Amino acid sequence: MKKIITAAFCLAVLLSPEAFSQQKKATTKNNTATFDSAKWRRDNYIVNRDSAYMNPYYAVQKLQGGNKRFQEGRSIHPRQDPALIKLLSEGQKPFATIVGCSDSRVSGEILFDQGFGDLFVARTAGQVMAEASYATIEYAYLILKTKLVVVLGHTNCGAVDAALKNTQNPPGHIVTLINAIKPAAREAKKHKDNVLQRAVELNVMNQVYELRELESVLSKGYYEGDLLIVGAVYDLATGKVVFLEDSLNKLPKTKYAKDNIAGK
Ligand SMILES: [Zn+2]
Repeated sequence: MKKIITAAFCLAVLLSPEAFSQQKKATTKNNTATFDSAKWRRDNYIVNRDSAYMNPYYAVQKLQGGNKRFQEGRSIHPRQDPALIKLLSEGQKPFATIVGCSDSRVSGEILFDQGFGDLFVARTAGQVMAEASYATIEYAYLILKTKLVVVLGHTNCGAVDAALKNTQNPPGHIVTLINAIKPAAREAKKHKDNVLQRAVELNVMNQVYELRELESVLSKGYYEGDLLIVGAVYDLATGKVVFLEDSLNKLPKTKYAKDNIAGK
């Protein structure tokens, strides 16, 4: 099984002609392999962009590859040159929707080392969602045909911490955030250790389930196996994104080639 997974990953890597012109400048700095060679693509965990757009399981691998580069301090900053920006003015095909926290340290394009036109992003504190967020995610799926949604929490999230502290009479509209995160906070408090980290993960999972059950667009896409909705947590200290196994297990049957993405 491992061989199949590796082979599939390598195939996705090797079928990656796009975007290299944008990466040329960055890669010539640390070239141990010829730019755009198969070895360079493997070394930099490149997954074909078109494959990622067509298949949400490859989209997960593309995000994981980008996050590895970021962690290792080898970001290639793809798809950020003026020619591509001009081309993108005609349209966009983001391969993933990121539902993340507004925290200034959790910028999706940077931590996944992606470029313009790659990610469709909705951010609020604690990635709490309401109608406008739902519509944003539905738009990405229905109109832009983006088949992967990642709910991205992070360590030491201030919004989750506020919910744990059960802050009384918060000013303005902040109570909205606290109330939405309270179920995860209550569950996490049943444990004695790592309460904040548990609350962060539980909050992400609650939000994953919330989107999977959201009538009528997202639930239909998810249960038909056309739309993948998963959860992940970004570690502020290490730069690593961990995809939550609970969100990768027991997925509905899908029409896409499916690698085992757990644990990568
Ligand atoms: Zn946060």
